[in-house]
Amino acid sequence: ESKLQLVHRHIRAFPDFPKKGILFRDICPILKDAAALTAVIDLFEEHVRNNHQQVDLIVGLDARGFLFGPLLAQRLGIGFVLIRKKGKLPGATVSVSYDLEYGKAEAEVQEDAVAAGQKVLLIDDLLATGGTLYAACELMKKLQAEVLGCMVVIELKELNGINKLKTHNVFSLVQY
Ligand code: 5GP
Repeated sequence: ESKLQLVHRHIRAFPDFPKKGILFRDICPILKDAAALTAVIDLFEEHVRNNHQQVDLIVGLDARGFLFGPLLAQRLGIGFVLIRKKGKLPGATVSVSYDLEYGKAEAEVQEDAVAAGQKVLLIDDLLATGGTLYAACELMKKLQAEVLGCMVVIELKELNGINKLKTHNVFSLVQY
């Protein structure tokens, strides 16, 4: 079995969650299986080493980006930065509001989290409409960081999120 097949096998689908009509892709089984989680990080690491050797920081999205981002950053020997939902971060922050696949939200990052000119890779569990990663890119722009690309475990192709992010590289492990 390949690493990708192993990852694929540890994603479940739940219909009508969190709302009727949404087919929710659940990544919890990946976290529960040491080999599947290692495979995810191996595949991300390989992608970064092959394509983005200049990366300075991994930037993860609240909340499931926090499950994979620090593991990847540690593998690469670089730091991890959190983009959080509004009101969770102390000190000076910059924020941006955005639309979700289901609802509205506001994202925040600490002003000193990334220095101007630093090269970052964004990470989350899943790309749907692209609203969340778009907002994260906007935050990075406000800090004058350079976004090298985005990485997700799962990409929902039919929602065309990648078009919203057309100026950036998107790397996904599994596509539906
Ligand atoms: P977008 O902003 O691209 O529409 O939605 C992506 C965000 O919503 C991600 O932060 C992701 O965690 C969450 N999300 C939306 N749909 C799903 C889903 O089916 N499964 C999981 N695990 N997360 C989802």
